[in-house]
Amino acid sequence: MKSNQVPDLAQVNKALQAQAVKALVDELRLLDPGLVLTQEPGELEKLSRDFYDFSPVLIPQLQEHRAQLAVFASKVEQVQLVAGACARHGLPLTVRGAGTGNYGQCVPLEGGVVLEMRGLNRVRQIDPETGVVEVEAGCSLAALDQQLAAAGRALRMVPSTMRTATVGGYFAGGSSGLGSLRWGFLRDPGNLLGLEVVTVEAEPRLLQLDAEASAPLNHAYGTNGILTALRLPSTEAVAWQQVVVGFQDWQQALAAAQLLPQTAFFLQGLTLLEAEVAAAMPWPPGCPKCPSEQAAGPEHRLLLWVGPDALRSPGEGAPGEGAPAEGALVAWLGARGGEVRWLAPNLPGPGLPLREFTWNHTTLHWRSNHPDWTYLQMLLPQPEAPCLGALRQRWGADLLWHLEAVKHEGAARLAALPLLRWQGQAQLAELIQHCRELGAFVFNPHVLTVEDGGLGVIDADQVAAKAAHDPAGLLNPGKLRGWLSR
Ligand SMILES: Cc1cc2nc3c(=O)[nH]c(=O)nc-3n(C[C@H](O)[C@H](O)[C@H](O)COP(=O)(O)OP(=O)(O)OC[C@H]3O[C@@H](n4cnc5c(N)ncnc54)[C@H](O)[C@@H]3O)c2cc1C
Repeated sequence: MKSNQVPDLAQVNKALQAQAVKALVDELRLLDPGLVLTQEPGELEKLSRDFYDFSPVLIPQLQEHRAQLAVFASKVEQVQLVAGACARHGLPLTVRGAGTGNYGQCVPLEGGVVLEMRGLNRVRQIDPETGVVEVEAGCSLAALDQQLAAAGRALRMVPSTMRTATVGGYFAGGSSGLGSLRWGFLRDPGNLLGLEVVTVEAEPRLLQLDAEASAPLNHAYGTNGILTALRLPSTEAVAWQQVVVGFQDWQQALAAAQLLPQTAFFLQGLTLLEAEVAAAMPWPPGCPKCPSEQAAGPEHRLLLWVGPDALRSPGEGAPGEGAPAEGALVAWLGARGGEVRWLAPNLPGPGLPLREFTWNHTTLHWRSNHPDWTYLQMLLPQPEAPCLGALRQRWGADLLWHLEAVKHEGAARLAALPLLRWQGQAQLAELIQHCRELGAFVFNPHVLTVEDGGLGVIDADQVAAKAAHDPAGLLNPGKLRGWLSR
């Protein structure tokens, strides 16, 4: 380098970081020869991404970012070891569950170390009196639900990705799912009772946090503490029935979706798909394609998870797959223009559960044939019809409707995850603005930070938790706006 040449700081930092990673690898190998590590480029590429490619805005911002090392933890002590080593070497540390986040939550923006948690997967305890479960963070939601079922209990809500997603990743990166109609959002008080957390310091601490102290780590993208175990409430196990209902008329389908949560039918979930979306879904075996032979034209579809009593005929047990649709709910739907097309018990195991046509699985299926489409997420204002009507009129066939019933602040509401034909950032900004003007609350999935994808405001408690648990700011850098703007 000539003496008057300014050094490229980015290159210098990269070289220093590579040296630090090498020293960290040597140290970890010495401290725990059993620890599984990889620096294989293909593995690092896989472990540095999630489902952010749903967003054409995020792809160019995220696709080049890579970890330099991935570590697979299977014990709390190993998490502490990695956290301490990262702190001593000043290396960024991004925690990863199953990598099913859809906003790039676990993409390591500053490289460094990815800590994969799926080996930390024990259910430590299910309290038979209270149903409270203590589970390690890397346990899959499906495995946890199966163990709860053996005790007559169930998870209160699950994402459509429950077969792969981890408990820790769901609470750190998710928000809602099947069950949100009864239990609201993960961040609602009562859905998280406590956390075990490892701090990122030269001498990492293992903290036991109560519900109040855990709240700032709930949906913080792993920026303010490494979750090693969670204490969660459970609910009674119910033999939920999956029901697919066809409607010829959108207004009737929407009215049923609005009214059902106000009835006394026992409901776990409700999803409404506009006809064009419904026609593109790969329905489970046995469920008629859409429009079904009985339908006179395009068919909107309402998906329900209901208690078996609503479908039971006098003197009969719970209905089985392919059973004729009978019972009070069938009559209620029929009086409102809906015809039951399919019903089947909601059982764990192989096969395609109806759950995998909800939330962002709908987006996934749609995009598999329409890769040039993206999506938006919002809570609709009440009443919903004027807002939906105005959006349908302005955006027509470029915006297709997918609604989910949720409980928000104690009341039944409809959330929407519409599919959008992508025509650029200006179009997206105009749509978001239009939704806001109509009173919808947009949860923007095309942004990187916790705050911008949520309520838009900085949560001082989240930032204070980061200062207490990650004073050098090494955890998942770039994702907590409140920390960056201190
Ligand atoms: C097709 C599809 C459907 C989806 N459906 C839903 C849905 O119904 N509801 C919903 O809420 N979300 C949904 N999501 C988003 C995602 O599946 C959930 O957020 C999921 O629960 C994430 O779990 P994970 O184990 O894959 O976490 P990851 O994606 O690995 O991580 C998510 C975030 O949590 C952090 N993290 C992970 N583990 C820990 C830990 N132990 N300690 C601290 N931080 C940690 C990561 O750093 C990251 O920021 C969907 C995504 C896709 C692609």
